[in-house]
Amino acid sequence: MSRKITAKRGLEIECKGWEQEAALRMLHNNLDPEVAERPEELVVYGGIGKAARNWEAFEAIENTLRALEKDETMLIQSGKPVAVFRTHEEAPRVLLSNSVLVPKWANWEHFNELDKKGLMMYGQMTAGSWIYIGSQGIVQGTYETFAELASQSFGGSLKGTVTLTAGLGGMGGAQPLAVTMNEGVAICVEVDESRIDKRIETKYLDLKVHSLDEAFRLAGEARDAGEALSIGLLGNAAEIHHEILRRGFKIDVVTDQTSAHDPLNGYVPEGFSLEEAAKLREADPVEYVKLSSESMAKHVDAMLEFRRNGSVVFDYGNNIRQVAFDEGVEDAFDFPGFVPAYIRPLFCEGKGPFRFVALSGDPEDIKAADDKMRELFPDNEKLLRWLDMAQERIAFQGLPARIAWLGYGERAKMGLALNEMVASGEISAPVVIGRDHLDSGSVASPNRETESMKDGSDAVGDWAILNALVNTAAGGSWISVHHGGGVGMGYSLHAGMVVVADGTENAARRLERVLTSDPGMGIARHADAGYDTAIDTAKEHGVNIPMLEE
Ligand code: NAD
Repeated sequence: MSRKITAKRGLEIECKGWEQEAALRMLHNNLDPEVAERPEELVVYGGIGKAARNWEAFEAIENTLRALEKDETMLIQSGKPVAVFRTHEEAPRVLLSNSVLVPKWANWEHFNELDKKGLMMYGQMTAGSWIYIGSQGIVQGTYETFAELASQSFGGSLKGTVTLTAGLGGMGGAQPLAVTMNEGVAICVEVDESRIDKRIETKYLDLKVHSLDEAFRLAGEARDAGEALSIGLLGNAAEIHHEILRRGFKIDVVTDQTSAHDPLNGYVPEGFSLEEAAKLREADPVEYVKLSSESMAKHVDAMLEFRRNGSVVFDYGNNIRQVAFDEGVEDAFDFPGFVPAYIRPLFCEGKGPFRFVALSGDPEDIKAADDKMRELFPDNEKLLRWLDMAQERIAFQGLPARIAWLGYGERAKMGLALNEMVASGEISAPVVIGRDHLDSGSVASPNRETESMKDGSDAVGDWAILNALVNTAAGGSWISVHHGGGVGMGYSLHAGMVVVADGTENAARRLERVLTSDPGMGIARHADAGYDTAIDTAKEHGVNIPMLEE
Protein backbone atom coordinates (compact mmCIF):
# COMPACT_ATOMS: atom_id res chain seq x y z
CA MET A 1 0.00 0.00 0.00
CA SER A 2 1.15 3.53 -0.65
CA ARG A 3 -0.64 6.87 -0.71
CA LYS A 4 0.08 10.23 -2.25
CA ILE A 5 0.23 12.66 0.66
CA THR A 6 0.08 16.43 0.95
CA ALA A 7 -0.58 18.42 4.09
CA LYS A 8 -3.92 20.09 4.48
CA ARG A 9 -3.90 23.92 4.35
CA GLY A 10 -6.19 26.56 5.83
CA LEU A 11 -8.21 27.01 9.00
CA GLU A 12 -10.49 23.99 8.98
CA ILE A 13 -9.06 21.27 11.22
CA GLU A 14 -9.55 17.49 11.38
CA CYS A 15 -8.27 17.06 14.94
CA LYS A 16 -9.56 18.15 18.35
CA GLY A 17 -7.04 21.00 18.68
CA TRP A 18 -4.35 22.84 16.75
CA GLU A 19 -1.46 21.01 18.37
CA GLN A 20 -2.73 17.61 17.22
CA GLU A 21 -3.60 19.12 13.83
CA ALA A 22 -0.09 20.57 13.60
CA ALA A 23 1.46 17.15 14.23
CA LEU A 24 -0.82 15.61 11.58
CA ARG A 25 -0.02 18.28 8.98
CA MET A 26 3.71 18.05 9.67
CA LEU A 27 3.65 14.25 9.38
CA HIS A 28 1.87 14.69 6.05
CA ASN A 29 4.19 17.49 5.00
CA ASN A 30 7.24 15.28 5.63
CA LEU A 31 5.81 12.89 3.01
CA ASP A 32 4.72 15.46 0.44
CA PRO A 33 6.42 14.45 -2.84
CA GLU A 34 7.86 17.98 -3.04
CA VAL A 35 9.50 17.43 0.34
CA ALA A 36 10.34 13.73 0.68
CA GLU A 37 12.96 11.86 -1.33
CA ARG A 38 11.00 8.55 -1.63
CA PRO A 39 7.54 9.15 -0.15
CA GLU A 40 6.12 5.87 -1.48
CA GLU A 41 8.47 4.08 0.94
CA LEU A 42 7.84 6.68 3.69
CA VAL A 43 11.47 7.80 3.24
CA VAL A 44 11.94 11.52 3.85
CA TYR A 45 15.71 12.04 3.50
CA GLY A 46 19.16 10.91 4.61
CA GLY A 47 19.40 7.35 3.34
CA ILE A 48 16.38 5.55 4.85
CA GLY A 49 15.23 8.28 7.26
CA LYS A 50 11.48 7.61 7.60
CA ALA A 51 8.40 9.39 8.97
CA ALA A 52 6.55 6.23 10.08
CA ARG A 53 7.45 2.56 10.34
CA ASN A 54 5.09 1.30 7.64
CA TRP A 55 1.80 2.36 6.03
CA GLU A 56 -0.31 0.61 8.68
CA ALA A 57 1.53 2.46 11.44
CA PHE A 58 1.22 5.68 9.44
CA GLU A 59 -2.57 5.33 9.29
CA ALA A 60 -2.74 4.42 12.97
CA ILE A 61 -0.80 7.60 13.79
CA GLU A 62 -3.20 9.66 11.66
CA ASN A 63 -6.26 8.14 13.34
CA THR A 64 -4.81 8.50 16.81
CA LEU A 65 -3.99 12.16 16.21
CA ARG A 66 -7.54 12.78 14.96
CA ALA A 67 -8.98 11.26 18.16
CA LEU A 68 -6.39 12.66 20.59
CA GLU A 69 -7.75 14.94 23.33
CA LYS A 70 -6.08 18.18 24.40
CA ASP A 71 -4.88 16.57 27.64
CA GLU A 72 -3.59 13.33 26.13
CA THR A 73 -0.15 12.25 24.90
CA MET A 74 0.55 9.70 22.18
CA LEU A 75 3.75 7.64 22.38
CA ILE A 76 5.62 6.65 19.22
CA GLN A 77 8.17 3.84 19.29
CA SER A 78 10.28 3.87 16.11
CA GLY A 79 7.53 5.12 13.86
CA LYS A 80 4.63 3.17 15.38
CA PRO A 81 2.03 4.48 17.85
CA VAL A 82 2.17 2.28 20.94
CA ALA A 83 0.11 4.02 23.64
CA VAL A 84 -1.96 7.06 24.58
CA PHE A 85 -2.00 8.37 28.16
CA ARG A 86 -3.83 11.18 29.85
CA THR A 87 -1.30 13.84 30.83
CA HIS A 88 -2.30 17.54 30.91
CA GLU A 89 -2.88 20.48 28.59
CA GLU A 90 0.61 21.93 28.86
CA ALA A 91 2.35 18.59 28.30
CA PRO A 92 3.51 17.42 24.85
CA ARG A 93 0.83 15.86 22.63
CA VAL A 94 3.36 13.41 21.19
CA LEU A 95 6.54 11.83 22.58
CA LEU A 96 8.75 9.89 20.18
CA SER A 97 11.69 7.56 20.54
CA ASN A 98 13.18 6.44 17.22
CA SER A 99 15.91 3.92 16.41
CA VAL A 100 17.23 3.75 19.97
CA LEU A 101 19.20 0.55 20.64
CA VAL A 102 21.00 -0.59 23.77
CA PRO A 103 24.65 0.48 23.19
CA LYS A 104 26.18 -2.99 22.82
CA TRP A 105 23.66 -3.78 20.05
CA ALA A 106 23.83 -0.36 18.43
CA ASN A 107 25.13 -1.25 14.98
CA TRP A 108 23.65 -1.43 11.48
CA GLU A 109 23.66 -5.25 11.37
CA HIS A 110 21.40 -5.50 14.40
CA PHE A 111 19.29 -2.55 13.35
CA ASN A 112 18.78 -3.98 9.85
CA GLU A 113 17.70 -7.31 11.35
CA LEU A 114 15.09 -5.59 13.52
CA ASP A 115 14.04 -3.33 10.63
CA LYS A 116 13.46 -6.41 8.45
CA LYS A 117 11.31 -7.95 11.18
CA GLY A 118 9.24 -4.75 11.31
CA LEU A 119 10.37 -3.88 14.85
CA MET A 120 12.35 -0.71 14.14
CA MET A 121 12.58 2.31 11.88
CA TYR A 122 15.44 4.69 11.13
CA GLY A 123 14.26 8.16 12.12
CA GLN A 124 17.31 10.16 10.94
CA MET A 125 16.86 13.54 12.61
CA THR A 126 13.83 15.47 11.39
CA ALA A 127 12.31 12.62 9.32
CA GLY A 128 11.01 10.60 12.26
CA SER A 129 10.29 13.70 14.32
CA TRP A 130 8.12 15.40 11.66
CA ILE A 131 9.87 18.72 11.23
CA TYR A 132 11.72 18.27 7.93
CA ILE A 133 11.13 21.21 5.59
CA GLY A 134 12.99 20.09 2.48
CA SER A 135 16.43 21.29 1.48
CA GLN A 136 15.84 24.81 2.82
CA GLY A 137 16.26 23.38 6.32
CA ILE A 138 19.87 22.71 5.59
CA VAL A 139 20.60 25.60 3.24
CA GLN A 140 21.23 28.19 5.87
CA GLY A 141 23.53 25.94 7.91
CA THR A 142 25.39 25.07 4.73
CA TYR A 143 25.48 28.73 3.72
CA GLU A 144 26.87 29.67 7.18
CA THR A 145 29.49 26.92 6.92
CA PHE A 146 30.74 28.04 3.50
CA ALA A 147 30.60 31.70 4.60
CA GLU A 148 32.80 30.91 7.61
CA LEU A 149 35.14 28.85 5.40
CA ALA A 150 35.32 31.78 2.97
CA SER A 151 36.26 34.19 5.78
CA GLN A 152 38.85 31.83 7.21
CA SER A 153 40.52 30.90 3.90
CA PHE A 154 39.50 33.19 1.03
CA GLY A 155 39.02 36.70 2.41
CA GLY A 156 35.26 36.48 2.89
CA SER A 157 33.95 35.20 -0.45
CA LEU A 158 34.20 32.07 -2.59
CA LYS A 159 34.40 34.24 -5.74
CA GLY A 160 36.99 32.79 -8.12
CA THR A 161 37.11 29.40 -6.37
CA VAL A 162 35.85 25.91 -7.28
CA THR A 163 34.30 23.60 -4.69
CA LEU A 164 34.06 19.86 -5.39
CA THR A 165 31.52 17.74 -3.55
CA ALA A 166 29.26 14.72 -4.06
CA GLY A 167 25.68 13.81 -3.16
CA LEU A 168 22.69 15.88 -4.20
CA GLY A 169 20.12 14.26 -1.90
CA GLY A 170 17.76 15.90 0.55
CA MET A 171 20.54 17.57 2.52
CA GLY A 172 23.36 17.49 0.03
CA GLY A 173 21.09 19.29 -2.45
CA ALA A 174 21.67 22.46 -0.44
CA GLN A 175 25.39 22.53 -1.23
CA PRO A 176 25.29 24.04 -4.75
CA LEU A 177 23.01 26.86 -3.63
CA ALA A 178 25.09 27.58 -0.53
CA VAL A 179 28.24 27.78 -2.66
CA THR A 180 26.67 30.08 -5.25
CA MET A 181 25.17 32.26 -2.49
CA ASN A 182 28.80 32.70 -1.40
CA GLU A 183 29.66 33.63 -5.02
CA GLY A 184 31.62 30.47 -5.83
CA VAL A 185 31.55 27.68 -8.41
CA ALA A 186 30.45 24.17 -7.37
CA ILE A 187 30.96 20.84 -9.13
CA CYS A 188 28.61 18.32 -7.51
CA VAL A 189 29.08 14.66 -8.43
CA GLU A 190 25.87 12.61 -8.18
CA VAL A 191 25.30 9.03 -9.25
CA ASP A 192 21.50 9.30 -9.53
CA GLU A 193 20.39 11.49 -12.44
CA SER A 194 16.89 12.02 -11.00
CA ARG A 195 18.45 13.73 -7.97
CA ILE A 196 20.30 16.17 -10.23
CA ASP A 197 17.05 16.92 -12.08
CA LYS A 198 15.18 17.45 -8.81
CA ARG A 199 17.72 20.02 -7.60
CA ILE A 200 17.47 21.88 -10.91
CA GLU A 201 13.65 21.90 -10.68
CA THR A 202 13.75 23.34 -7.16
CA LYS A 203 16.39 25.94 -8.19
CA TYR A 204 19.13 24.66 -5.90
CA LEU A 205 21.33 23.72 -8.84
CA ASP A 206 22.03 25.59 -12.10
CA LEU A 207 22.77 22.88 -14.65
CA LYS A 208 23.58 19.24 -15.41
CA VAL A 209 26.53 17.79 -17.37
CA HIS A 210 27.49 14.25 -18.31
CA SER A 211 31.23 14.62 -18.80
CA LEU A 212 34.21 15.88 -16.90
CA ASP A 213 35.33 17.88 -19.94
CA GLU A 214 32.10 19.86 -19.90
CA ALA A 215 32.33 20.33 -16.14
CA PHE A 216 35.92 21.62 -16.37
CA ARG A 217 35.09 23.99 -19.22
CA LEU A 218 32.04 25.52 -17.54
CA ALA A 219 33.62 25.65 -14.07
CA GLY A 220 36.84 27.17 -15.43
CA GLU A 221 35.00 29.86 -17.39
CA ALA A 222 32.77 30.84 -14.47
CA ARG A 223 35.67 30.85 -12.02
CA ASP A 224 37.82 33.04 -14.30
CA ALA A 225 34.94 35.47 -14.83
CA GLY A 226 34.27 35.56 -11.06
CA GLU A 227 30.76 34.28 -11.62
CA ALA A 228 28.76 31.98 -9.37
CA LEU A 229 27.73 28.68 -10.98
CA SER A 230 26.69 25.22 -9.80
CA ILE A 231 27.15 22.14 -11.96
CA GLY A 232 25.63 18.70 -11.35
CA LEU A 233 27.97 16.06 -12.82
CA LEU A 234 26.55 12.58 -13.33
CA GLY A 235 28.97 9.98 -11.99
CA ASN A 236 30.43 8.14 -9.04
CA ALA A 237 32.60 10.18 -6.67
CA ALA A 238 34.90 7.25 -5.85
CA GLU A 239 35.99 7.22 -9.51
CA ILE A 240 35.58 10.82 -10.62
CA HIS A 241 37.56 12.43 -7.79
CA HIS A 242 40.64 10.41 -8.75
CA GLU A 243 40.15 11.31 -12.40
CA ILE A 244 40.05 15.01 -11.46
CA LEU A 245 43.31 14.58 -9.52
CA ARG A 246 44.91 12.81 -12.50
CA ARG A 247 43.92 15.59 -14.85
CA GLY A 248 45.17 18.28 -12.48
CA PHE A 249 42.13 20.60 -12.56
CA LYS A 250 42.50 23.05 -9.66
CA ILE A 251 40.00 22.49 -6.85
CA ASP A 252 39.95 24.93 -3.93
CA VAL A 253 37.50 23.27 -1.53
CA VAL A 254 36.45 19.61 -1.16
CA THR A 255 33.70 18.08 0.94
CA ASP A 256 31.07 15.36 0.60
CA GLN A 257 27.44 14.61 1.31
CA THR A 258 26.81 11.16 -0.05
CA SER A 259 24.90 9.10 2.55
CA ALA A 260 28.11 7.45 3.70
CA HIS A 261 26.63 7.02 7.17
CA ASP A 262 24.66 4.05 5.77
CA PRO A 263 26.94 1.83 3.65
CA LEU A 264 24.06 -0.43 2.58
CA ASN A 265 21.43 2.10 1.51
CA GLY A 266 23.27 5.39 1.17
CA TYR A 267 26.36 4.86 -0.95
CA VAL A 268 26.71 3.40 -4.44
CA PRO A 269 29.93 1.42 -5.00
CA GLU A 270 32.04 2.34 -8.01
CA GLY A 271 31.34 0.49 -11.23
CA PHE A 272 27.67 -0.07 -10.41
CA SER A 273 24.67 1.50 -12.12
CA LEU A 274 21.78 2.38 -9.81
CA GLU A 275 19.85 -0.70 -11.00
CA GLU A 276 22.82 -3.04 -10.51
CA ALA A 277 23.38 -1.56 -7.06
CA ALA A 278 19.73 -2.11 -6.11
CA LYS A 279 19.93 -5.75 -7.25
CA LEU A 280 23.10 -6.48 -5.29
CA ARG A 281 21.73 -4.72 -2.21
CA GLU A 282 18.80 -7.12 -2.23
CA ALA A 283 20.70 -10.25 -3.24
CA ASP A 284 23.84 -9.94 -1.11
CA PRO A 285 23.83 -7.12 1.46
CA VAL A 286 27.11 -8.26 3.03
CA GLU A 287 28.94 -8.09 -0.30
CA TYR A 288 27.29 -4.71 -0.98
CA VAL A 289 28.55 -3.19 2.28
CA LYS A 290 32.04 -4.56 1.57
CA LEU A 291 32.14 -2.98 -1.89
CA SER A 292 30.64 0.35 -0.84
CA SER A 293 33.04 0.60 2.12
CA GLU A 294 35.99 -0.06 -0.23
CA SER A 295 34.73 2.66 -2.57
CA MET A 296 34.39 5.07 0.34
CA ALA A 297 37.99 4.36 1.36
CA LYS A 298 39.03 5.23 -2.20
CA HIS A 299 36.85 8.34 -2.09
CA VAL A 300 38.52 9.49 1.17
CA ASP A 301 41.96 8.72 -0.29
CA ALA A 302 41.15 11.22 -3.04
CA MET A 303 39.99 13.80 -0.49
CA LEU A 304 43.31 13.38 1.37
CA GLU A 305 45.22 13.81 -1.88
CA PHE A 306 43.33 17.03 -2.62
CA ARG A 307 44.31 18.22 0.87
CA ARG A 308 47.98 17.47 0.22
CA ASN A 309 47.64 19.49 -3.00
CA GLY A 310 46.49 22.51 -1.01
CA SER A 311 42.67 22.31 -1.18
CA VAL A 312 40.63 23.12 1.93
CA VAL A 313 39.03 19.74 2.77
CA PHE A 314 36.42 19.04 5.43
CA ASP A 315 34.00 16.27 6.38
CA TYR A 316 30.37 17.34 6.10
CA GLY A 317 28.86 15.16 8.78
CA ASN A 318 28.26 11.88 6.92
CA ASN A 319 30.83 9.73 8.78
CA ILE A 320 32.81 8.92 5.62
CA ARG A 321 36.10 9.30 7.52
CA GLN A 322 35.11 6.57 9.98
CA VAL A 323 34.20 4.11 7.21
CA ALA A 324 37.51 4.80 5.46
CA PHE A 325 39.41 4.50 8.74
CA ASP A 326 37.79 1.14 9.42
CA GLU A 327 38.88 0.10 5.92
CA GLY A 328 42.50 0.85 6.81
CA VAL A 329 42.88 4.49 5.72
CA GLU A 330 44.89 5.47 8.79
CA ASP A 331 45.02 9.20 8.10
CA ALA A 332 41.26 9.47 7.33
CA PHE A 333 40.75 11.86 10.24
CA ASP A 334 43.49 14.22 9.02
CA PHE A 335 40.86 16.57 7.64
CA PRO A 336 38.47 18.09 10.17
CA GLY A 337 34.71 17.84 10.57
CA PHE A 338 32.65 20.93 9.80
CA VAL A 339 31.47 21.49 13.38
CA PRO A 340 34.81 22.07 15.13
CA ALA A 341 36.08 23.88 12.01
CA TYR A 342 33.15 26.25 11.40
CA ILE A 343 30.03 25.81 13.57
CA ARG A 344 31.04 25.37 17.22
CA PRO A 345 31.54 29.09 17.92
CA LEU A 346 27.85 29.57 17.03
CA PHE A 347 26.80 26.67 19.28
CA CYS A 348 28.60 28.35 22.19
CA GLU A 349 26.13 31.24 21.93
CA GLY A 350 23.16 28.87 21.76
CA LYS A 351 22.81 29.64 18.04
CA GLY A 352 21.29 26.99 15.87
CA PRO A 353 18.74 26.06 13.21
CA PHE A 354 15.49 27.64 14.43
CA ARG A 355 12.75 27.04 11.86
CA PHE A 356 9.03 27.59 11.47
CA VAL A 357 6.25 26.45 9.17
CA ALA A 358 3.00 28.20 8.21
CA LEU A 359 0.11 25.75 8.68
CA SER A 360 -2.11 28.01 6.59
CA GLY A 361 -0.08 27.07 3.51
CA ASP A 362 0.05 30.77 2.65
CA PRO A 363 3.51 32.11 1.66
CA GLU A 364 2.37 35.58 2.80
CA ASP A 365 2.51 34.31 6.39
CA ILE A 366 6.21 33.56 6.00
CA LYS A 367 6.75 36.95 4.43
CA ALA A 368 5.10 38.61 7.43
CA ALA A 369 7.28 36.54 9.77
CA ASP A 370 10.43 37.47 7.78
CA ASP A 371 9.51 41.14 8.17
CA LYS A 372 9.03 40.62 11.89
CA MET A 373 12.52 39.13 12.18
CA ARG A 374 13.99 42.14 10.38
CA GLU A 375 12.16 44.40 12.83
CA LEU A 376 13.23 42.44 15.95
CA PHE A 377 16.88 41.88 14.99
CA PRO A 378 17.93 44.94 12.94
CA ASP A 379 21.62 44.58 13.94
CA ASN A 380 22.00 40.94 12.98
CA GLU A 381 23.57 41.54 9.55
CA LYS A 382 24.15 37.89 8.67
CA LEU A 383 20.48 37.18 9.36
CA LEU A 384 19.31 40.13 7.24
CA ARG A 385 21.54 39.06 4.32
CA TRP A 386 20.20 35.52 4.65
CA LEU A 387 16.56 36.67 4.65
CA ASP A 388 17.09 38.73 1.48
CA MET A 389 18.68 35.78 -0.32
CA ALA A 390 16.17 33.29 1.01
CA GLN A 391 13.22 35.37 -0.17
CA GLU A 392 14.77 35.70 -3.60
CA ARG A 393 16.19 32.22 -4.13
CA ILE A 394 14.49 29.63 -1.93
CA ALA A 395 11.58 27.79 -3.52
CA PHE A 396 9.26 26.47 -0.81
CA GLN A 397 8.75 22.70 -0.77
CA GLY A 398 5.44 21.62 0.77
CA LEU A 399 4.10 23.98 3.44
CA PRO A 400 5.84 27.39 3.35
CA ALA A 401 8.64 27.49 5.90
CA ARG A 402 11.63 29.50 6.98
CA ILE A 403 14.87 28.64 8.70
CA ALA A 404 16.96 31.24 10.50
CA TRP A 405 19.85 30.55 12.84
CA LEU A 406 18.95 32.34 16.08
CA GLY A 407 20.62 32.31 19.49
CA TYR A 408 19.63 32.28 23.14
CA GLY A 409 17.10 35.01 23.87
CA GLU A 410 16.38 35.56 20.16
CA ARG A 411 14.48 32.29 19.80
CA ALA A 412 12.08 32.96 22.69
CA LYS A 413 11.56 36.51 21.44
CA MET A 414 10.74 35.36 17.92
CA GLY A 415 8.52 32.50 19.15
CA LEU A 416 6.44 34.84 21.27
CA ALA A 417 6.23 37.37 18.44
CA LEU A 418 4.92 34.65 16.10
CA ASN A 419 2.33 33.63 18.67
CA GLU A 420 1.15 37.24 18.96
CA MET A 421 0.95 37.53 15.18
CA VAL A 422 -1.25 34.43 15.08
CA ALA A 423 -3.45 35.87 17.85
CA SER A 424 -3.84 39.22 16.09
CA GLY A 425 -4.48 37.72 12.66
CA GLU A 426 -1.30 39.19 11.11
CA ILE A 427 -0.48 35.55 10.42
CA SER A 428 -3.52 33.68 9.17
CA ALA A 429 -3.19 30.30 10.99
CA PRO A 430 -1.02 28.69 13.68
CA VAL A 431 2.70 28.27 13.11
CA VAL A 432 4.88 25.28 13.96
CA ILE A 433 8.26 26.14 15.48
CA GLY A 434 11.04 23.58 15.67
CA ARG A 435 14.61 22.85 14.77
CA ASP A 436 17.02 20.27 13.44
CA HIS A 437 18.51 17.85 15.97
CA LEU A 438 21.86 19.24 14.82
CA ASP A 439 21.77 22.03 17.38
CA SER A 440 23.87 23.40 20.16
CA GLY A 441 22.50 21.46 23.13
CA SER A 442 20.63 18.51 21.67
CA VAL A 443 23.15 16.10 20.24
CA ALA A 444 26.02 13.83 21.18
CA SER A 445 27.89 12.76 18.05
CA PRO A 446 31.66 12.32 18.41
CA ASN A 447 32.37 12.33 14.66
CA ARG A 448 30.24 15.40 14.05
CA GLU A 449 28.55 17.86 16.44
CA THR A 450 30.68 16.91 19.45
CA GLU A 451 33.91 16.12 17.62
CA SER A 452 37.06 17.27 19.50
CA MET A 453 35.27 18.84 22.45
CA LYS A 454 37.63 20.91 24.57
CA ASP A 455 37.31 18.63 27.62
CA GLY A 456 37.18 15.34 25.70
CA SER A 457 33.48 14.80 26.45
CA ASP A 458 32.66 13.96 22.80
CA ALA A 459 30.85 10.70 23.56
CA VAL A 460 28.85 11.81 26.60
CA GLY A 461 25.22 11.15 25.68
CA ASP A 462 23.58 12.60 28.80
CA TRP A 463 23.22 16.04 27.25
CA ALA A 464 20.93 14.90 24.45
CA ILE A 465 18.70 13.02 26.91
CA LEU A 466 18.57 15.98 29.32
CA ASN A 467 17.60 18.19 26.41
CA ALA A 468 14.58 16.02 25.59
CA LEU A 469 13.64 15.75 29.26
CA VAL A 470 13.76 19.48 29.96
CA ASN A 471 11.87 20.33 26.78
CA THR A 472 9.19 17.83 27.76
CA ALA A 473 8.97 19.36 31.24
CA ALA A 474 8.82 22.82 29.69
CA GLY A 475 5.88 21.75 27.53
CA GLY A 476 6.99 21.30 23.92
CA SER A 477 4.29 20.04 21.54
CA TRP A 478 6.22 17.01 20.33
CA ILE A 479 9.58 15.94 21.69
CA SER A 480 11.79 13.15 20.38
CA VAL A 481 14.87 11.14 21.24
CA HIS A 482 16.70 9.47 18.34
CA HIS A 483 19.79 7.38 17.78
CA GLY A 484 22.08 7.17 14.75
CA GLY A 485 21.01 10.31 12.87
CA GLY A 486 23.51 11.93 10.52
CA VAL A 487 26.38 9.55 11.16
CA GLY A 488 24.63 6.19 11.50
CA MET A 489 24.03 3.49 14.10
CA GLY A 490 26.25 3.58 17.13
CA TYR A 491 27.59 7.06 16.48
CA SER A 492 25.04 9.56 17.79
CA LEU A 493 22.21 10.31 20.23
CA HIS A 494 20.05 13.36 19.66
CA ALA A 495 16.80 15.05 20.56
CA GLY A 496 14.15 16.98 18.65
CA MET A 497 11.81 19.74 19.75
CA VAL A 498 8.69 21.22 18.21
CA VAL A 499 6.32 23.72 19.80
CA VAL A 500 3.17 25.14 18.23
CA ALA A 501 2.28 28.84 18.27
CA ASP A 502 -1.52 28.87 18.01
CA GLY A 503 -2.05 32.35 19.43
CA THR A 504 -3.27 31.18 22.86
CA GLU A 505 -1.90 32.04 26.29
CA ASN A 506 -1.18 28.39 26.93
CA ALA A 507 1.09 28.46 23.86
CA ALA A 508 2.79 31.69 24.96
CA ARG A 509 3.78 30.16 28.31
CA ARG A 510 5.12 27.02 26.69
CA LEU A 511 6.93 28.87 23.89
CA GLU A 512 8.72 31.11 26.36
CA ARG A 513 9.81 28.14 28.49
CA VAL A 514 10.83 25.74 25.70
CA LEU A 515 12.57 28.31 23.52
CA THR A 516 14.62 29.32 26.58
CA SER A 517 15.50 25.87 27.99
CA ASP A 518 16.33 24.44 24.56
CA PRO A 519 19.11 26.85 23.48
CA GLY A 520 20.01 27.26 27.17
CA MET A 521 21.07 23.61 27.14
CA GLY A 522 23.53 24.44 24.35
CA ILE A 523 25.12 27.14 26.45
CA ALA A 524 25.23 24.89 29.53
CA ARG A 525 26.75 22.02 27.54
CA HIS A 526 29.51 24.15 26.02
CA ALA A 527 30.16 26.11 29.24
CA ASP A 528 30.57 22.78 31.05
CA ALA A 529 33.11 21.74 28.42
CA GLY A 530 35.09 24.92 29.13
CA TYR A 531 34.35 27.12 26.10
CA ASP A 532 34.89 30.79 27.06
CA THR A 533 32.22 32.13 24.71
CA ALA A 534 29.63 29.83 26.28
CA ILE A 535 30.71 30.84 29.80
CA ASP A 536 30.49 34.52 28.86
CA THR A 537 27.10 34.02 27.16
CA ALA A 538 25.79 32.22 30.25
CA LYS A 539 26.92 35.09 32.49
CA GLU A 540 25.61 37.77 30.16
CA HIS A 541 22.16 36.20 29.88
CA GLY A 542 21.92 34.83 33.43
CA VAL A 543 21.72 31.15 32.46
CA ASN A 544 21.77 29.43 35.85
CA ILE A 545 24.67 26.94 35.82
CA PRO A 546 25.31 25.89 39.45
CA MET A 547 29.02 25.03 39.24
CA LEU A 548 30.08 27.72 36.79
CA GLU A 549 33.23 29.37 38.09
CA GLU A 550 32.93 33.03 38.97
P1 NAD B 1 20.36 11.31 0.65
O1 NAD B 1 20.43 9.85 0.93
O2 NAD B 1 19.06 11.94 0.36
O3 NAD B 1 21.36 11.65 -0.55
C1 NAD B 1 22.64 11.05 -0.73
C2 NAD B 1 22.99 11.15 -2.21
O4 NAD B 1 24.29 10.62 -2.45
C3 NAD B 1 22.03 10.40 -3.11
O5 NAD B 1 21.46 11.28 -4.03
C4 NAD B 1 22.91 9.34 -3.76
O6 NAD B 1 22.49 9.04 -5.09
C5 NAD B 1 24.26 9.99 -3.73
N1 NAD B 1 25.38 9.03 -3.82
C6 NAD B 1 25.51 7.85 -3.16
N2 NAD B 1 26.65 7.26 -3.48
C7 NAD B 1 27.29 8.08 -4.35
C8 NAD B 1 28.52 8.02 -5.01
N3 NAD B 1 29.35 6.99 -4.84
N4 NAD B 1 28.88 9.06 -5.84
C9 NAD B 1 28.03 10.10 -6.04
N5 NAD B 1 26.83 10.21 -5.42
C10 NAD B 1 26.48 9.20 -4.58
O7 NAD B 1 21.07 11.99 1.92
P2 NAD B 1 21.08 13.52 2.38
O8 NAD B 1 19.86 13.82 3.16
O9 NAD B 1 21.43 14.41 1.25
O10 NAD B 1 22.29 13.48 3.42
C11 NAD B 1 23.61 13.25 2.95
C12 NAD B 1 24.57 12.96 4.09
O11 NAD B 1 24.83 14.15 4.85
C13 NAD B 1 24.01 11.96 5.09
O12 NAD B 1 25.05 11.10 5.53
C14 NAD B 1 23.54 12.80 6.20
O13 NAD B 1 23.50 12.11 7.43
C15 NAD B 1 24.59 13.88 6.22
N6 NAD B 1 24.07 15.07 6.91
C16 NAD B 1 24.74 16.19 6.91
C17 NAD B 1 24.25 17.30 7.57
C18 NAD B 1 24.95 18.55 7.57
O14 NAD B 1 24.57 19.47 8.25
N7 NAD B 1 25.97 18.67 6.80
C19 NAD B 1 23.06 17.26 8.23
C20 NAD B 1 22.37 16.11 8.20
C21 NAD B 1 22.86 15.05 7.51
